[in-house]
Amino acid sequence: MGLIVQKFGGSSVADRERVQAVAQRITDTYRKGNQVVAVLSAQGDTTDELIAKAGEMNPLASDREMDMLLSTGEQVSCALCAMAIQALGCPVVSLTGWQAGVKTSSDHQNARIEEMEVARVRSALEQGRIVLVTGFQGVDAAGDITTLGRGGSDTSAVALAAALQADRCQIFTDVEGVYTADPRLVPGAKKLESISYEEMLTLATLGAQVLHDRCVSLARDKGVQVEVLSSFSDVPGTLVRAPEPGETASVSGVARRLEEEKGTALISVVGGDILGQSHIVTRLSGALAKVGISVQKVHLDRHYLSLTVDIDQSEQAFCLVHRTLFP
Ligand code: ADP
Ligand code: ASP
Ligand code: MG
Repeated sequence: MGLIVQKFGGSSVADRERVQAVAQRITDTYRKGNQVVAVLSAQGDTTDELIAKAGEMNPLASDREMDMLLSTGEQVSCALCAMAIQALGCPVVSLTGWQAGVKTSSDHQNARIEEMEVARVRSALEQGRIVLVTGFQGVDAAGDITTLGRGGSDTSAVALAAALQADRCQIFTDVEGVYTADPRLVPGAKKLESISYEEMLTLATLGAQVLHDRCVSLARDKGVQVEVLSSFSDVPGTLVRAPEPGETASVSGVARRLEEEKGTALISVVGGDILGQSHIVTRLSGALAKVGISVQKVHLDRHYLSLTVDIDQSEQAFCLVHRTLFP
């Protein structure tokens, strides 16, 4: 028994059956005696479709109006899921970001959460309701709707978990956890049992979109343990947590970030004592050279190493770098 925040991403609520499956998961958690707050993303590709629609109307539309538009996707998911939960016979209320007390800066399309006023969420929980909250959005001091940047629903969930002092924060997505590389692109990527906040933050910043980077820094700053797990199966996921004493200096993952305007991509190796293993650069460049991929630039940091390659060769490079480090 406890207070659990669960977040479901776009592919987890993509259609009617998936919304019903999410509603079932939420009500199962509730019926076990827990208080449940669920944060939902927009269904499937809704956000991309709304951006395309805006572009047809006016490619120079203001960021304020973009937020007005984009925030509707999450509202649809929450209302539909609330209806599915009602059909399962549980008390539920859905709330928009502003109704849930998510106060943000005024940086439309990339707002930062500044304060959480969760009295309404708390009182709904105390009345025995399941609470659904639209991810990715809040309200600024002027009362205007803001959005938190692409992928921002993860951050909404962690902010709610921190403000409510939740016992658990579960991020349900379309893969079974955090892997050593994107499992959709890299064959042989391995699921991690756990990863430290810093390493996850570095991976997210360098292109691993499985978690929004601000969600990870917020979780670290507020001490929220985050579980990343699949909404399509019941297997254990990955725990994102504080570093363990004496944690080994091994590499935790590889990420790719496209730099489309430059025609390049960064392949980054994260974790471990990178500086102490500078031979790793020679090893990786050698492996890439053998298949005709040249490294245009090397960036060595205390916590990661990035190799710049041609964008057209970047998927092959991503897989090869991963295979070299995780044979
Ligand atoms: P959601 O809609 O649930 O927020 P996202 O698409 O934002 O889901 O994030 C999940 C996706 O992140 C996965 O489908 C996967 O392709 C991608 N991904 C990138 N890097 C990783 C990684 N290291 N581990 C797991 N997934 C990753
Ligand atoms: N719907 C938003 C997006 O597609 C937010 C999210 O999914 O986290 O970026
Ligand atoms: Mg996401």
